[in-house]
Amino acid sequence: MSKLVIVGTVAFDAIETPFGKTDKILGGAATFIGLAASQFNVDAAIVSVVGGDFPQEYLDLLANKNLDISGVEIVKEGKTFFWSGKYHNDMNTRDTLATELNVLADFNPVVPENYKNADVVMLGNLHPLVQMGVLEQMNKKPKIVILDTMNFWMDCALDELKSVIKKVDVITINDEEARQLTGEYSLVVAAQKIQKMGPKYVVIKKGEHGALLFHGENVFFAPALPLKEVFDPTGAGDTFAGGFAGYLAKTEDYSFENMKTAVIYGSTLASFCVEKFGTERMKQLEDKEVYQRLSQFKQLTQFEIVLENHQ
Ligand code: AMP
Repeated sequence: MSKLVIVGTVAFDAIETPFGKTDKILGGAATFIGLAASQFNVDAAIVSVVGGDFPQEYLDLLANKNLDISGVEIVKEGKTFFWSGKYHNDMNTRDTLATELNVLADFNPVVPENYKNADVVMLGNLHPLVQMGVLEQMNKKPKIVILDTMNFWMDCALDELKSVIKKVDVITINDEEARQLTGEYSLVVAAQKIQKMGPKYVVIKKGEHGALLFHGENVFFAPALPLKEVFDPTGAGDTFAGGFAGYLAKTEDYSFENMKTAVIYGSTLASFCVEKFGTERMKQLEDKEVYQRLSQFKQLTQFEIVLENHQ
């Protein structure tokens, strides 16, 4: 089992969906990634920052999932990163209502000493300079570096983001972000262009329409599980990334074939995340529920076809 370093926001989120509205609740990219990765019992550490307003209870929640939080800095006099979003009726698109960087604005990440030799690094969504700062602290080259980002950073720190993209093995972004990054409408062409920017593996997340994994000429597709209830998609992308990274860290196999399974785990875990607001569902997720859903996934995607009839 490899060690896993996760960097990303640990945040307050305020969310509005057609089904309801929350006040400030626990959110953040690293939070969702960590909760998903903890499902694999890997040795994982979160590198992030929060303000003095961040409840101890939330930190305890992460620590109780066996996530090392010694790299989560607490700036007593500062305010925690805050994000607020409102989903449209299709639940696949949203408007960002507020992004308040607060303590994130002057954050200098510190990777805990005993994680500087981690084999797997998951650069979750936050400022690309912070992502780069984490990479630079690793004292040996990780076996795999995975990057997740979003349009916000393409809008305000594109050059810095491109420098990080150059250094990673895998990128996970959503379809609109892939289009924005490359200026290409076709996701196949966008993935080819992104591979030329650095990462040899490109995962494009398409919300309720599943995810695509590209590597050279190889493509793999995993649908999203059709769910009865979708309550709040916030964090689904991060949960996907956490499941993907956690599975790779657990299996220590970074091949395209194994990444296919990692995509399935990522999709499966994300399917739970959306069933309740914020982290509610992931917090109480049990291993047997994951197992049941994986077998549903298998049934959903397996079919027999006789191809000789067409020759
Ligand atoms: P997702 O739904 O997977 O895109 O992730 C939503 C999570 O990302 C929320 O919990 C937010 O706190 C966090 N988030 C939103 N905007 C940003 C940003 N610009 N940088 C880092 N994290 C963000």
